[in-house]
Amino acid sequence: REESEINELEQKKLEMANVNPDEIDSFAKFPLSKYTLLGLKHNGFTVPTKVQRQTLVYSLRGMDVVGAAKTGSGKTLAFIIPLLENLYVKKWSSVDGLGALIITPTRELAYQIFEVLKNVGKSHDFSAGLIIGGKDLKYEWNLISGCNILICTPGRLLHHMLENPDFSCEYVQMLVLDEADQCLSMGFAETMNCILEELPEDRQTMLFSATQTRDVKDLIRAGCKNPVFCSVHEFS
Ligand code: ADP
Ligand code: MG
Repeated sequence: REESEINELEQKKLEMANVNPDEIDSFAKFPLSKYTLLGLKHNGFTVPTKVQRQTLVYSLRGMDVVGAAKTGSGKTLAFIIPLLENLYVKKWSSVDGLGALIITPTRELAYQIFEVLKNVGKSHDFSAGLIIGGKDLKYEWNLISGCNILICTPGRLLHHMLENPDFSCEYVQMLVLDEADQCLSMGFAETMNCILEELPEDRQTMLFSATQTRDVKDLIRAGCKNPVFCSVHEFS
């Protein structure tokens, strides 16, 4: 039964090519798994914000997205939802290892994203971890090998990539850069280039920030393939 439900979801996600995002006035109108819908409902999220509507119609179909919307517009759910859904449709499980990577410039942002992921992803079966430094390295080391989803700051992620033989990014299906313009800025350039080199090319990439990253060099560097650009200027 699960199998046929997943097939049906996949089909519906493809059909979203014909949907006008502005007509989607509730999360329930998106073809989402019951687990994600439950998580959203339990946390009081019923109506998608504009950046969520505008990007989900593409990201749920597995397309690369470059989203820009001001602070407070709901960018976190705009990448958490497709991340959960795409791993779900792929029947990702504990034995599959790391499937999705979220990179954000600061520990504080990483914590916030982790909270949203834990709350909204509660009914799913995925394991998630924070790799942000400031904690015991050994603790992170042990945690990392069993995680399906990791939320990381660039420096600490690279540290594990280089030093931790148990850590593999080989099967990563999705990469999210939150505050992408900062992640791709000069200060992180070398670190991010090393990280990006380690990731499989065949993956979905989602970039979100307050301002639109249109620098083609940056987009190529981040591994975006024919990304859809979504710029949103108002909240609702
Ligand atoms: P951004 O990353 O764009 O700055 P966040 O993802 O941090 O924005 O979200 C800002 C606030 O909006 C958070 O408090 C979040 O819980 C709330 N929020 C996000 N999406 C929705 C929604 N669909 N309905 C109601 N509140 C939402
Ligand atoms: Mg944010």
